[in-house]
Amino acid sequence: MGRPIQWRTVLFIPCRPSLWQGLVLPGEMALWLLVAILVLVSAYQHTQVLPRRSEATPLLPPQAKDDADAIIDAAFSSDIVYERIACMTDTFGPRFSGSDALENALDWTREEMEKDGLSVVEEYVMVPSWVRGREFARLLSPRVKELHMVGLGMSVGTPGKKSLVAKAIVVSSFQELDQRASDVQGKIVVYNVNFDQGYSNTVKYRTLGATRAEKYGAVAALVHSMTPYGLQTPHTGATRTTGIPSAAISVEDSRMLARMQARGQEIVIELYMEAHMLPDKPSRNLIVEIKGAEKPDEVVVFGGHMDSWDIADGAMDDAGGAFVSWEVVRLIHQLKLRPHRTLRAVLFVNEENGAKGAEQYYLNHKHESKLTSIAIESDEGTFTPLGISFQGSTAARSILEQIGKAFLAGIGSGNVSGQSIGTDISPMCDAGVPCGSLVTLDPRVGSLSNNPCKTFSNPPYPDVNFGTSGYFWYHHTQSDTVDKLSPRQLQHCAATLAVWTYSIANLDFLLPRS
Ligand SMILES: [Zn+2]
Repeated sequence: MGRPIQWRTVLFIPCRPSLWQGLVLPGEMALWLLVAILVLVSAYQHTQVLPRRSEATPLLPPQAKDDADAIIDAAFSSDIVYERIACMTDTFGPRFSGSDALENALDWTREEMEKDGLSVVEEYVMVPSWVRGREFARLLSPRVKELHMVGLGMSVGTPGKKSLVAKAIVVSSFQELDQRASDVQGKIVVYNVNFDQGYSNTVKYRTLGATRAEKYGAVAALVHSMTPYGLQTPHTGATRTTGIPSAAISVEDSRMLARMQARGQEIVIELYMEAHMLPDKPSRNLIVEIKGAEKPDEVVVFGGHMDSWDIADGAMDDAGGAFVSWEVVRLIHQLKLRPHRTLRAVLFVNEENGAKGAEQYYLNHKHESKLTSIAIESDEGTFTPLGISFQGSTAARSILEQIGKAFLAGIGSGNVSGQSIGTDISPMCDAGVPCGSLVTLDPRVGSLSNNPCKTFSNPPYPDVNFGTSGYFWYHHTQSDTVDKLSPRQLQHCAATLAVWTYSIANLDFLLPRS
């Protein structure tokens, strides 16, 4: 993650560094001067003429503060997001791509959106249909024990629909696998990888572990669950399909196997998986929006995903993100606010095992890339919001910091931090759209100041490492249930996302790009 930029009264003016660099001004004067400079930089970058404004004009009119306060009040006065997530997850359960449950949940969501007075657009998309079937892993030596396992999504099953029995070799990295390559043939490779390095540094063992092990003649791969902490709960997730089966095992079982190997004990495991693919099936993204009053063709896009893993209710990942996005549109509609630009919530499908919803959305809206001011994803939890992480130009980041400071600092969620970009918006980010993610922290992992697992807080703009936040305790497990969420946190997330998106949609200009 990039180092967060702090609000300072020291200005750095790109055109005349020698003259201006390091000039220290009183705070208020610096603020107005920076605002004026950002507007000019933005105008230059877009080679478009912006409305004339004096140097003392703020980014948004005084009414914007009243609107933001009204949005916050409305968000904190309704439990509807929590109630809807509870109802959907209790009623339909896991919403895996290709399942009837996902399609039924999408139908129900659409009906509820229409009850809100919103008109819903469905965008059809073909999604993969992977079937888990029955599965187990059993330790046979040095003792007989059922291992806590879950097959990885898109894996093949064990050959001939029979169990395989093989000796296991435990490694802690790909480097160690390479070093011990001659010892891998005919064995099950166990990746006992410590999650302290965070999700982005360890998830490669889940996605590529089987492929790399197969290269050296392994018959299967097992991976330490992608979590910092376990209660014998295995975490699934997508893997790259290869010729050998792959599954996750619990933290406890993975570490036990490593201890056994260190003692020189022979490890023998029996693995059985029926996993297989069926032909792709039709599904759809759901889109609701508030048309812009002045620039309806320019959009602020935000969203989360409706699908979950087959073993998970997916309350946190990602009904929370999807329904908070929907709630933004419901709130703006209820308050009869009309932003300058279009506000669009996208509830994607198939984020978990293919990202076909994101791909289809991008294909359908490619022509809007230059007209999209920002894309914001909420797929890293909907706990206590701190702000957004952002990937884009320094000028845009400064504008976001001003919005956060002016409208959201009062509820603690006006920070702008590093670069954490979600799967569903990544095609837009790759096309140059400024991108953000809702940043939240589960208080169960402790406060920012005493959480030993946090990365590099640089107050007052903390970078939160999601690899160690509470999110990954439940991620892709059967424990991702609605009780992990709280009505209050969901209200807070909705208020935060609504104020960011509404304010950005009301700027006189699109966010400046690099
Ligand atoms: Zn997700």
